[in-house]
Amino acid sequence: MAKKTIHDLELSGKRVLVRVDFNVPLEEKDGEMVITDDTRIRMTLPTIQALMEKGARIILCSHLGRPKGQRDPKQSLKPVAAALGALIGKTVGFAESCVGAETKAAAEALQNGEVLLLENVRFEAGEEKNDAELAKQFAELAEVFVNDAFGSAHRAHSSTAGVASYLPAVSGLLMEKELAYLHDELENPARPFVVILGGAKVSDKIEVINRLLEKADTIIIGGGMAYTFRKLVQGITLGKSLYKPEWEPIAQAALDKAKARGVNLLIPVDALITDSFDFDTKQLGVTRYTGVNEDIPEGWEGVDIGPESVKLFAEAVAGAKTVIWNGPMGVFEIKEAAKGTFDIAEVVAANSGATTIIGGGDSVKAVKKAKLADKMTFISTGGGASLELLEGKVLPGVAVLLDK
Ligand code: AMP
Repeated sequence: MAKKTIHDLELSGKRVLVRVDFNVPLEEKDGEMVITDDTRIRMTLPTIQALMEKGARIILCSHLGRPKGQRDPKQSLKPVAAALGALIGKTVGFAESCVGAETKAAAEALQNGEVLLLENVRFEAGEEKNDAELAKQFAELAEVFVNDAFGSAHRAHSSTAGVASYLPAVSGLLMEKELAYLHDELENPARPFVVILGGAKVSDKIEVINRLLEKADTIIIGGGMAYTFRKLVQGITLGKSLYKPEWEPIAQAALDKAKARGVNLLIPVDALITDSFDFDTKQLGVTRYTGVNEDIPEGWEGVDIGPESVKLFAEAVAGAKTVIWNGPMGVFEIKEAAKGTFDIAEVVAANSGATTIIGGGDSVKAVKKAKLADKMTFISTGGGASLELLEGKVLPGVAVLLDK
């Protein structure tokens, strides 16, 4: 997916509108909104710093939260301007609105290497509708559009896609990296290529399973969605574990496809089960591990993979040259049910000879919680966007970028 990047255009003296993902978590402290995790800001630094070095005049825009077209001071990007300024060692200007005469004047007053951050694009009602008029107003601020907001690239909004109808559009460096690891690398992976998929529902992940069945040597399935596969393959009873009859034909089709293509499809052979499970209070009742291929009794529920499953999966991962992981192995938000997910994180981290890619969402949280982030080759910043890319979908915010 060769897309032009900021390195392919002459940007000195040019006003460049950069869509970033500054959707940072905020917390109110003493009447002020405080950023509690600045990872998303840090991830954009390579692009911003490269643009500064090129002498571009940098106009940053982003969404934050879900203000639904209304101004909401609690979802203002203003605190991000100060935080970014501290990171780049330079004052970052702030425009109280993302469009309008004052904002245009501020953009036009920028000197080479200067940075201006615009207010939340979702304060505008047109943003999420990909309103063409709003997109035109964004375009009037600049001469070039750069999309570095991978996490929003699956959305066709005015600031992620629409604006590119009116300006030459190229990829930022974070976007380039995301596409390289979550797309290009998987087109022609070093083999064996092992895919680990977890999460709750078969229906949510089936498109990813289908697409990766065409690329992978081994697919490991864990999490809530594994139980449907276990019923079909091992013939065990599932108690009240996650399962829906309508998932059966979907899982069966995946099993058939794996067989036809010679893909090794691995599923758990044991589970941590509990007799009561309250997600809201993060409480489990009595717990125990089942034996290998043992029935899950009536009234009991599988909440994590067991040690024999970890052993089985670890063997496959240890021999891999490329690993991609998306989705937890169990209800990792509850400490007692997080072991399987953390064990898999360790197993992936231990394979230092492989390209290891953490493909977004909850597996990213798990890897960070396990303090193993620096042991992975690449950790995606996208949740929904990663999943859609892995499904083989074309992301609107990527489609609009100029081809190399
Ligand atoms: P997803 O968003 O599809 O990746 O699913 C992530 C969610 O799946 C997490 O919130 C997990 O708690 C949940 N999950 C994983 N394993 C199970 C399980 N065995 N039973 C119920 N929920 C699970």
